[in-house]
Amino acid sequence: MEPLTEQEIRAAFLNCTKGEAKRLSVPRDLAERPWGDLDFLGWRDPQAPDRAYLVTEWSDGRPRAVALRGAGATVGHARRSMCSMCLTTHSGGVSLMVAPKAGKAGQQGNSIGAYICSDLACSLYVRGKRDAGVGARLHETITLEEKIRRTVANVAAFVAKVGTA
Ligand SMILES: [Zn+2]
Repeated sequence: MEPLTEQEIRAAFLNCTKGEAKRLSVPRDLAERPWGDLDFLGWRDPQAPDRAYLVTEWSDGRPRAVALRGAGATVGHARRSMCSMCLTTHSGGVSLMVAPKAGKAGQQGNSIGAYICSDLACSLYVRGKRDAGVGARLHETITLEEKIRRTVANVAAFVAKVGTA
């Protein structure tokens, strides 16, 4: 994806108030992020480890960002779980993340949940740039491009469910 500025990221949030979007912590090292290898930028709030955020490009050229609440503990330490975005399997490295829906639906308490890599580094797992351990990848015959396209589609579907108005 194309590099984004802090301002662009803050303006892209769909499911939190303008005040929250202004205050939430955006990574300080945006310039050093491996944008060329990212399908979306995801990060954890260093001040509030149960909070996570992701921002992705959208078809109209304006990025979309989603605020997430992750369960502090990862799902099943012994059990292997699969990320629903990139389909990487980790033992203990996948979290159930919940996003309040945008607008009125969110104010009424509606939310969307998904199992996502706890470090939100799906793009790097897909490209083999981060290792999730033995047996982390499904044995698949599809190409890297297809895996990337699938991850992008999964993230877009998740963001669309939150609401992209
Ligand atoms: Zn993932």
